[in-house]
Formats: sequence, structure tokens, C-alpha cells
Amino acid sequence: LVVVKIGGASGVDPDGVCADVAALVRAGRRVVLVHGGSAAVDDLAARLGVPQRHLVSPSGVTTRHTDAATLRVLQLALLGQVRPAVLAALGRGGVRAVGLSGLDANLLRAERRAAVRAVVDGRRVLVRDDHSGRITSVDGGLLRLLLADGVTPVVSPPAVAEDGLPVNANADRVAAAVAVELGAQALVFLTAAPGLLADPADDASLLAEHELGEDTPVAGGGMAVKLVAAREALRGGVRSVVVSDGRVASPVGRALDGGGTRLR
Ligand code: ADP
Repeated sequence: LVVVKIGGASGVDPDGVCADVAALVRAGRRVVLVHGGSAAVDDLAARLGVPQRHLVSPSGVTTRHTDAATLRVLQLALLGQVRPAVLAALGRGGVRAVGLSGLDANLLRAERRAAVRAVVDGRRVLVRDDHSGRITSVDGGLLRLLLADGVTPVVSPPAVAEDGLPVNANADRVAAAVAVELGAQALVFLTAAPGLLADPADDASLLAEHELGEDTPVAGGGMAVKLVAAREALRGGVRSVVVSDGRVASPVGRALDGGGTRLR
């Protein structure tokens, strides 16, 4: 079983990823797709005039400030735009795919963050109106039921909090939680970079392998979250965790054949 996370930033072509996933599924591999959609959320928020803020944690991890209006936009964009595009692309490839957010049958349960520590203009602040959470459990039974019937699950944020309300959850960490729950052999993060770069500005500085630790290259933006998610997956027993290019032909096959960066 392979869990594939499709990057949400612009650049990654969902059609290419889905064609590749379809080929794997036809060859008998079981795949769970997880998607984010940061570019789609930003785009819809701009059209609707909902201002967007990002929070930087004291350790440098950037996340979206999900206020109430942004949570609504996020659901519209992910579940109304990104997900249908993924499902349609898989369908064209002959894959029976079912889309599930964390709210469907309470697939993804999360602990709501009471307050988010963040750095704004160099000062540490506590943000209290952030509707986001940390994944606490994944209903693996539901996913296994679908997989056993030859259905490919497509999993999207949001998750559901203790109070039964939706909360944003980082899609990389959702993918890690799904991979751990299902005992996946591999977790592939497809993104708009060749993999983990020693120098983020130099595509030629791709690291074929990287041991997560103190000497991790300064990974700005969403890459830092991916490394956190990768660590969660490795600790949870996922043997192969790869960050690889989502913009190339056959991106999943390449990632499984040693492309990108293998994290340890
Ligand atoms: P996604 O939407 O695919 O989940 P993000 O766009 O949030 O991912 O994060 C991936 C981005 O992080 C890359 O496209 C790249 O611009 C940036 N990045 C920062 N540091 C690094 C690094 N060391 N190696 C590779 N990419 C990096």
C-alpha cells in the first residue's frame, strides 16, 4: 500500500499524478491519495475578498491562519474544486475513487488547538481564533473497507474536532497519519520541488537521502511541515518516506524508484 500526498501549491499537475496512480492501481497496487490545496484556497480567498494570514511557529513552521471565514473558503476550495478535479482525473484513468473529508464518517479526528503560538513581526504571540487541529486518529477500518473493494480513497482536510466541528489539518500530516494507520509501505509527498534541497534556491542541490535531525537544511515554507510529517510517519513504522517532484511525468513511479529525497 502506498499513500501519495499531492502538493497543493501551484506547479503540481493533478492530472499527471492521477494518470500515474491509475496505472499503479491497474497494476494491482493499493493507493490512498491525500491532497491539500493551498493555491486553490489562496485563489478563492482572493476572489471572495477573504484576507489570508500565515502563522510562523517559533520553530519556523509556516501554517495558514484558519479564521472562521478562511475555514469556509478552505472547505469550498478543497471539497468543491480540488477534490472533484482529482476524482475526475482518476475516473478518466479507470479508477473507482471515493472522496472523503475528515468529516465523512468522522474519518479524521483531531484535537482542536486552543491557541497557536506564532511569531508575528518578530514577537511571540498567541493566536486564539485559529480553527485548526492536530490529527489524533484515522478510521482505518473505513479506508480498508474501500480498498478491499478495489476503491481508491481520496482524503481531504478538514478533520473533525472533539466538539464535532470542522478544523483545518495540515494535509502532509494527514497523509502521515493515514500511512501510519494503514501500515503503508511507502509515503510519497509530491511537491513543486525536485525533493529536499541542500540549498532551497538551487534545484541541482537535491539530496538523494536525508537523515532527519539537527543538520536538516533550512526548509522554509511548507517543506518544514513535510519534514515534521515525515518524522511522524517514520516513527509510526512507515518504512519508506520520500519527498519528490510532482511536476514530472510518472511522478509516483519515479518517487518509488528512487527519485527525490528518501527521508530516514
Ligand atoms: P505542497 O503544497 O506541495 O505541500 P509547499 O509548497 O507548502 O508544498 O512546500 C514545498 C515548497 O517548499 C517547495 O516547493 C519549495 O519552494 C519550498 N522549500 C523550502 N525549503 C526547501 C528545501 N530545502 N528543499 C526543497 N524545497 C524547499
